[in-house]
Amino acid sequence: MSINLPTTQLPKEPRFSLRRVMLAASQEATGTKTTSYLVTTIFAGSLYAFVSYLIIKNVPASWLIPAWISLSFGFALSFSPLRYGAEEIIRQLFPYADYDSHQLIKRLNSISYSSLTLERLTTHFFQEFEVNLSIDQILFLILDKDGQRTTRLHGFQTVPDLQPLQIQELIKATHQKPVLIHHIHPDHLRHQLEAHHIGLVVPLTNNESLQGLLLLGSKTNHHSFTTKDLKVLEAIAPKVGFAIQNAREYERVNAHNQELINTLERANQKLRDANQKLQHDDKLKDEFIYVATHELKNPVTAMRGYLSLIEEGRYGSIPPELTEPLTQVVSSNQQLITLLNNLLQIARIEATNITFTTKPIAICEVIDQVIRDLKALAEQKGLNIIHSCVNPAITIIGEKERLREIVSNLLSNAIKYSETGDIEVSYKIDQDTLVTSVKDQGVGISEKDQKMIFTRFFRVEEEAAKGIPGTGLGLFIIKEIVERMQGKIWFTSTLGKGSTFSFSLPLARSYSLKTE
Ligand code: ADP
Repeated sequence: MSINLPTTQLPKEPRFSLRRVMLAASQEATGTKTTSYLVTTIFAGSLYAFVSYLIIKNVPASWLIPAWISLSFGFALSFSPLRYGAEEIIRQLFPYADYDSHQLIKRLNSISYSSLTLERLTTHFFQEFEVNLSIDQILFLILDKDGQRTTRLHGFQTVPDLQPLQIQELIKATHQKPVLIHHIHPDHLRHQLEAHHIGLVVPLTNNESLQGLLLLGSKTNHHSFTTKDLKVLEAIAPKVGFAIQNAREYERVNAHNQELINTLERANQKLRDANQKLQHDDKLKDEFIYVATHELKNPVTAMRGYLSLIEEGRYGSIPPELTEPLTQVVSSNQQLITLLNNLLQIARIEATNITFTTKPIAICEVIDQVIRDLKALAEQKGLNIIHSCVNPAITIIGEKERLREIVSNLLSNAIKYSETGDIEVSYKIDQDTLVTSVKDQGVGISEKDQKMIFTRFFRVEEEAAKGIPGTGLGLFIIKEIVERMQGKIWFTSTLGKGSTFSFSLPLARSYSLKTE
């Protein structure tokens, strides 16, 4: 590959100066190391010959052999330090010849391969050029397919304002090779570049298309660019072209990714806002339900009081034709009170993170009381409640009222959803918990419905359960209560055969059940 280097641009020096010879040696051979080797060899050889001469002249014949042996050792030992010394002197004398072009190409290659961004690529190139070529101004003019350009500059105070037409002229002037400023035509373009102290223009192609131009400022040591510099730049230009293309690809993908991340972030933010609003609305709704329920409960309870007085005959005897409607009103009123109580209970549980005041409770006693309350209801349906309390002393940890609520709910359900058979309450100790079970031989629950049974407002729509009044809130509430008392609730059921609802609560201390 030939380089357009005009002789007028080479350093003007005497034809046979030592400096010129050394420089040529350092450029045409492999740099400082070869030159220093040459210098050291000449110097050490001369020294050796001179000392040999002195030895022959002055040392007696019997000492000649040991003297030469010593001289040989001295020569062998001193060559290396002498060579490093020579290298250092050459480095000082010819700073611009002071780089190993192979090493530099290797480093620039590795920068080209490893730099993912234009910023990193251009910064590292600048550092290498600054150290090795004494250039403190470089400008990457990166060209897009659509004629757009981006500039990356290091060291320049002002950027040459090149118009698209001038860039085209500059591209033409380079003939796809590094070109010194003095070879740039037309003149106005050259003058414009010279005004910014640009010394060299390197086109950067990736073998297919031009990716940009590298504009190098003049050398800080006022030397001209050498053939070696141009060879290095010519060798590295296609790699830089590829690196620019890759970096642009990477930056494009990165920008696209960033755009995606931003879009996701915006969508996320919208979701968060919507969620917050929903939570706020939900809270408002809960508050509304709580207030409305609370306000409704007073008149409905008052009605219950008046209905009881009417039933007792305080307002006179009830005409026979009103007995049936009155029973209906009382039952509906009772349902309404249950519903309002349930809603209030849920609102209380959800609005506050309530924890219950837990104490040891004699569970058999509480269950006996609940059974007494519900006995009449069960007997009306011909159902028998069996309470197998084998150890009345057994105590669990919980809140008495809430325990009553749990058992009352499970027993009421067992009565409500059974037409025949016994209802049995039994106990079992499982490690440090007491498992209480309420077993009935009622309508049972289908497998399909079992998954939903503890869901708020869920009611089974099987024929057998139809028409039985309820709110679908009882099991949801007691599950919350059991869990807040550190327990668990579950059930097994077979449609048409009956269900067993069980809950566990922590034992106050260890017990043994005789039936275990
Ligand atoms: P409610 O009984 O007021 O409808 P629950 O939450 O107590 O509400 O019960 C939810 C549903 O579970 C009931 O509608 C009923 O279909 C079913 N269920 C509850 N207990 C039993 C049971 N012991 N036997 C059969 N089905 C039951």
